[in-house]
Amino acid sequence: MHRGFRYNAGATTFAPYEEGLPLYDFFKKIDISPRTKPLKYSHIVIQNNKRIKRFLDLDSFVFELNNSHYHQKNFEFYTLIKSICDNFYKQQNYRYSKKNTAAKLSSMLSFAPFAVKFLPYLLQNAKSFIERFFGAPLDPEYQRFIDAQTLIAVQVDSSKINFLTAALALGYPFYESHYVFGGMGEIFEQMRGVMGEVRTKEDVRAVLEMRGGYEVQTQNGSFTAKNIVLNAPIFDSSKLFGKTVHKNYFDSYKKLDSGQSAFVVYMSVKKRKSYAHHYQIIEKEIFAGAISSSVFVSFSDEEDMAFGEYYSVTASLHTACSFWDGLTRGEYDKKKEALKERVTALICDKLYLKRDDIKESFSATPKSFERYIGRASLGGVIMTPKNQFFGVASNDTPFEGLYAVGDTVFAAQGWNGVVMGVRNLECTM
Ligand SMILES: Cc1cc2nc3c(=O)[nH]c(=O)nc-3n(C[C@H](O)[C@H](O)[C@H](O)COP(=O)(O)OP(=O)(O)OC[C@H]3O[C@@H](n4cnc5c(N)ncnc54)[C@H](O)[C@@H]3O)c2cc1C
Repeated sequence: MHRGFRYNAGATTFAPYEEGLPLYDFFKKIDISPRTKPLKYSHIVIQNNKRIKRFLDLDSFVFELNNSHYHQKNFEFYTLIKSICDNFYKQQNYRYSKKNTAAKLSSMLSFAPFAVKFLPYLLQNAKSFIERFFGAPLDPEYQRFIDAQTLIAVQVDSSKINFLTAALALGYPFYESHYVFGGMGEIFEQMRGVMGEVRTKEDVRAVLEMRGGYEVQTQNGSFTAKNIVLNAPIFDSSKLFGKTVHKNYFDSYKKLDSGQSAFVVYMSVKKRKSYAHHYQIIEKEIFAGAISSSVFVSFSDEEDMAFGEYYSVTASLHTACSFWDGLTRGEYDKKKEALKERVTALICDKLYLKRDDIKESFSATPKSFERYIGRASLGGVIMTPKNQFFGVASNDTPFEGLYAVGDTVFAAQGWNGVVMGVRNLECTM
């Protein structure tokens, strides 16, 4: 909430959400039905004033794509992407644990069917694979289209990932994407309803090992717990622990902190005309103060009365934490305002939105996120090959009763990644 208006703070898309896939199965298992509606297309890409709807249906999407980035091999390429994704999601019988040597070995064995099936894609750099597939480097605009998609899904462009990772990033819009009524907060409220005691606005300051469990200290006192499931970023958790073994464990993951984050603009816009729920606007140049040339813009639903007579708009782009460090108050405010203005002007221009219809707008930098949720780096672990092959922390730890979930441990970013980590935790506990 901000001055009476509600916003999604970060995540706005809920995907892939369909039966048989981890996100859907997770909510089914905990007997919660998020109030959602399926979308006809996950988002609309706007590039060079052309629009590409990311339809679920392969033929419809390729038809749209060919209007902007025609290539005779487009259909063949996206058929391959879809079949890799279908096959990937069918393989659910793995476990990922680094608790000890035996657990690591058994994890490697559980991944063997994946390795066999996807080896050619795992071992090839995505950008090179794509070049070979299409027979030549792609037109720079088409390449930007692909890189903007991998950036939002796995936080990095296609030159730094293997082709399997790129295929999963390019393929998720082929599965159901849902709009969440009331915003993401409503899902957490639903979960809270079935969780027993939930404490909010209470900072965990220390987690101390004791006989048979842990003592958790907060600003309001302390309590004991047999098991702890840590949700703070793994690379920033050593400060919570007193014992050297714990500190060393968490410090060993400091290298996974990418220093990447988000700049987010929030707006309340008078409901005058219809909008799609999600747009990705791709520009040619990287924005000053950012590390990307694209902005992802999400609108609340016209009928979603949680947001009253205004659309709630959340627009985000990638930035680096370091861009916002070491500035004087004046420099920081100026830089923040300039980027907010750039993003707002772009949205108004591309989506034909009138300035007068924006009731309020404000923005958040990595510093804002650090202040409100205790972390400046956002977006989880970047899925480079080095991090993928047993570089990422598992959901169990070498310590009895200490576990971890979230986007900085297996299986990384977004609803899907976090839920896959929860499923993995269940398998390894
Ligand atoms: C701008 C943006 C847009 C995104 N869009 C999407 C999207 O559309 N769809 C999608 O699926 N994903 C999206 N993501 C990614 C998604 O939001 C994250 O991957 C997800 O929120 C990670 O969940 P988490 O639980 O690991 O971490 P968080 O959501 O960061 O939650 C961690 C929680 O731990 C709390 N915490 C930390 N330290 C302490 C402490 N010491 N004591 C008490 N509490 C503590 C924090 O306050 C926070 O509430 C987006 C991310 C960003 C930044």
